[in-house]
Amino acid sequence: ANSVLSSYSTTVFEVMSQLALEHDAINLGQGFPDEDGPEELRKIAADSLMEGPNQYPSMMGIPELRQAIAKHDKKFYGINLDWKTEVMVTSGATEALADCLFGLIEPGDEVVVLEPSYDCYIPLIKRAGGIPVTVQMSAPDWKLPIEELDEALTHDTKLIIINSPMNPTGKAFHWEELEALAELCLRYDIYAVCDEVYEHLIFDGRKHYPLITLPGMRDRTVRIGSAGKSFALTGWKIGYICGAPEVLAPIAKAHQFTTFTTPPNLQKAVAAGLSKDKSYFASMTKDLEAKRDYLAKALADIGFEVLPCDGTYFVTVDIRGVHNGRDEEFCRYITTEAKVAAIPVSVFYDMEGPSNLVRFCFSKRREVLEEAVSRLRKAL
Ligand code: PMP
Ligand code: GLN
Repeated sequence: ANSVLSSYSTTVFEVMSQLALEHDAINLGQGFPDEDGPEELRKIAADSLMEGPNQYPSMMGIPELRQAIAKHDKKFYGINLDWKTEVMVTSGATEALADCLFGLIEPGDEVVVLEPSYDCYIPLIKRAGGIPVTVQMSAPDWKLPIEELDEALTHDTKLIIINSPMNPTGKAFHWEELEALAELCLRYDIYAVCDEVYEHLIFDGRKHYPLITLPGMRDRTVRIGSAGKSFALTGWKIGYICGAPEVLAPIAKAHQFTTFTTPPNLQKAVAAGLSKDKSYFASMTKDLEAKRDYLAKALADIGFEVLPCDGTYFVTVDIRGVHNGRDEEFCRYITTEAKVAAIPVSVFYDMEGPSNLVRFCFSKRREVLEEAVSRLRKAL
């Protein structure tokens, strides 16, 4: 018999990155910076690799990193975490999400997801025996659809996944939207799994508000972060989860049978990174904001309708002013003809969603963005 996994399609990030390689295209598809993260952190990782220890670290993560995560969350958001019982290190936010779903839901539980949704959520929910219930958001401002959410939530709902700043929309939820979300979580007595991997990549002076800081949410929310995104080290796959001990305990049970632990030298380096002061993070964000500004304006000049982007690595455009056809076909066309790859947003919907939106990644060197723009201008 066919296994369930054989019905999974290959993730769009792999498909588009392979196509980009094949056609020697500039890859503005998969979200990763084209420069390595801070040398200082890479040096700590390299030194620590040579000095050791290189054996299994504690299952919850090395104390140094768990303490640094707790201090980071206190410094930025005023969250008081007990690093021993309320913080766990994972091999990337992806593992953190899998642990949450395997640890918190029972077969048959409903899990509410806002769409467009990051691509691993729905396959993981299904694999954990959950039933995904999707609620679509609408371009261009991707406002929280409170009434639709209220309708989707039932007494069979176990949890909701919230991603802010959000991939692929670039939307960062406003305080009022988070208040409405918190009210719903309390009313339906559900958990919130908050994917906040882009917490530091938020622009225009906006502030990131973790849902866990809202009244009543401390004991029903887990907050997920990733060093990959915070420090432009996506290949390291160091993630973390913070939450109340009773919520984290079942998630840790899942973690022990997924990866159990994470390379110690990388954990040490991330601890140093998270200990930096606010200005360190702010300057990385400023650089990224300038790239967003450049690419958003250049794409608008080409004739795309550029949607608002509050944060993340991504800007989304409506292609209708430039192309008659579906987003997928357009992305194949620009990858093979213009030699610039991007991601069709329709892949972030479980059922039918819009097919006129395309996501471009701007976390690239300025000259690379300029070359990509010039290629698009010529081909379109
Ligand atoms: N969530 C979102 C919204 C993402 O964009 C990504 C990709 N960085 C992840 C989770 C996975 O993060 P990681 O690479 O740390 O597993
Ligand atoms: N988060 C990255 C993106 O949205 C992709 C990570 C991956 O390839 N799995 O592009």
